Amino acid sequence: MNFEHNENEQMIAQMVRDFAEKEIRPTFMEWDESQHFPKSLFNKMGELGLMGVLVPEEYGGAGLGYNEYITVISEIAQVCGSIGLSVAAHNSLCTGHIMSFGNEAQKKKYLPKLASGQWIGAWGLTEANTGSDAMRMKCVAKKEGNEWVLNGAKNWITHGISGDVAVVLARTGDLLDSRGITAFIVERGTPGFQGGKKENKLGMRASETAEMIFEDCRIPEENVLGEVGDGFIQAMKILDGGRISIGALSLGIAKGALAASIKYSKEREQFGQPISNFQAIAFKLADMATEIEAAEMLLYQSAYLKNTGQKMTKESAMAKYYASEVCVKAATEAVQIFGGYGYTKDYPAEKYYRDAKLCTIGEGTSEIQKLVISRELLK
Ligand SMILES: Cc1cc2nc3c(=O)[nH]c(=O)nc-3n(C[C@H](O)[C@H](O)[C@H](O)COP(=O)(O)OP(=O)(O)OC[C@H]3O[C@@H](n4cnc5c(N)ncnc54)[C@H](O)[C@@H]3O)c2cc1C
Repeated sequence: MNFEHNENEQMIAQMVRDFAEKEIRPTFMEWDESQHFPKSLFNKMGELGLMGVLVPEEYGGAGLGYNEYITVISEIAQVCGSIGLSVAAHNSLCTGHIMSFGNEAQKKKYLPKLASGQWIGAWGLTEANTGSDAMRMKCVAKKEGNEWVLNGAKNWITHGISGDVAVVLARTGDLLDSRGITAFIVERGTPGFQGGKKENKLGMRASETAEMIFEDCRIPEENVLGEVGDGFIQAMKILDGGRISIGALSLGIAKGALAASIKYSKEREQFGQPISNFQAIAFKLADMATEIEAAEMLLYQSAYLKNTGQKMTKESAMAKYYASEVCVKAATEAVQIFGGYGYTKDYPAEKYYRDAKLCTIGEGTSEIQKLVISRELLK
């Protein structure tokens, strides 16, 4: 493995950093307070190639690999986890699913719009009663002539209301049959499809999380992604890559929390000296930095495997599990280092703390990652 970030990655990091400082930092607390999803920001990010990082250039994307993708997500997340989450979900879930399993006509129709940020993507797997246990989903699609009729609801969907297009997983066969689920492309405005309740969340508040409702929603046959019955297997593959996304998001939040903690601990004085002089504080920084670097290496390991087309189910689960737990720990320590100020919205620590927790839940909880890792070990 090469541990050096190449010139391209460094250039991308600087470009994203500059963009985040100018376009995200000045307003992210307002968006957070009001749970405002800043849709026009995503159009701007599309112009910079951030909405189709992995999409080949022939479909209007940036045509980059997973190393650059980690750079993009983690740099955004260092400033604002919510925006990082939305960019990650758009790139790796909806866009990634169409890119990986769409036919030529579907790729030509949807990828340029998604990669340019003209359209925002959503991806619907989770339902109210089926999160970790997605195979038991109730949302059903029945074939009628040349159409599929979709009925049910999806919950906790990033961009469930604002998404212009969604990839929706629905039951087309028997319950618990891994070949009984199919993926469909559903455009906003399709009769019978509407956004539902928007969740009022602890963190990641500027990233819209909402219900999608389907009532006799008719989907043309041409919107089936891949083969009928392949949806669950496709979704599991998408989540393998998605774990790199959430790992990168975790890495960014953790790095942001560490940088803020270093700065504050050098400025804040108690007992006549900067608190960074106290070993109790300096050792917290040392632990945070060490764990962040270990998480980064696990992430780049899974990126390497993904870039080279190798199986990475275990490695991406390890990276997501470890990076997300490190992220929560780093954000918790940041609040402690900031003391009482860490408990207020005037300083950045409390937002990192609130945003961090999503990382151990979204796209498979830490417990589910351990299930995936142990199953791979015990095969
Ligand atoms: C902000 C946000 C954005 C999201 N975006 C999307 C999205 O865009 N698309 C989408 O489809 N979903 C999305 N989700 C849903 C997310 O993927 C689920 O919340 C997650 O998979 C967990 O499912 P659950 O919430 O139903 O928890 P549950 O599955 O009910 O789990 C509850 C607890 O039980 C544990 N548990 C469950 N099963 C086991 C087991 N077998 N062994 C041990 N422990 C177990 C879990 O680890 C957890 O601690 C989002 C969620 C959030 C919060």
